[in-house]
Amino acid sequence: MSIPIIIFLGPPGCGKGTHAKLLAERAGAGHFDLGSLLRGIAKSGSPRGVELTGFMSKGLLVPDTLIIEIVRDALSERVKTNPPPALLLDGFPRTVAQAEALEKVAASIELGPVSVININLPNELIVERIANRRVCNKCGAIFDVLEFSGKECPKCKSGQLIQRDDDKAEVVRRRLEEYAAKTAPLLQFYGKKGKLVSVVSDAPVEVVRERVYGAYKQIQPK
Ligand code: ADP
Repeated sequence: MSIPIIIFLGPPGCGKGTHAKLLAERAGAGHFDLGSLLRGIAKSGSPRGVELTGFMSKGLLVPDTLIIEIVRDALSERVKTNPPPALLLDGFPRTVAQAEALEKVAASIELGPVSVININLPNELIVERIANRRVCNKCGAIFDVLEFSGKECPKCKSGQLIQRDDDKAEVVRRRLEEYAAKTAPLLQFYGKKGKLVSVVSDAPVEVVRERVYGAYKQIQPK
């Protein structure tokens, strides 16, 4: 049986990661978080990791060929060893070439149909949220310093809350430019296929969580 895919799209800092995690738990779906996967490879210090760091630390998208190879391997492995009833893709695809590659990979490993939840946020709010964002270096939980300013992760109680290197102001500007130039065209790509629902994340997490769930219900096959 084929595994439905729900792609989370949206600019950096819009809350994509937070809401993909929340929806995955609520819907009993799997969560594929490409940013964390890439950060793990980068941290390993392998030749591929060093290559990834060169792009990520500058706020640049990693070249499509490399990303497609990594995602193809990771998705095939996931489907083979631990197939979820549905899979949320967080951070992939981010370019039209990646979206086209996903169509090919999906056909070969029985993933699909594809639908898209797009999370929007005005630029001023993005910059503010990223400046306030802290992540746990162990479990990956995300916090806002305005809501929780401690240093130890209250979720796993063993990790430290840190600012990601690419959340520094200069790098964030670059990531927003990359989003506008390379990822925003995906809105048209999927919009034309009639598979995209948008949600605005300019409200507290619990409110946006309901909006995202509403979008999810809307894209469920009838
Ligand atoms: P955000 O969504 O906040 O930008 P992520 O953790 O998803 O953060 O991604 C961090 C970085 O990883 C990106 O700035 C980029 O360098 C790299 N990256 C993640 N996903 C992709 C992708 N699909 N294609 C190319 N680069 C990617």
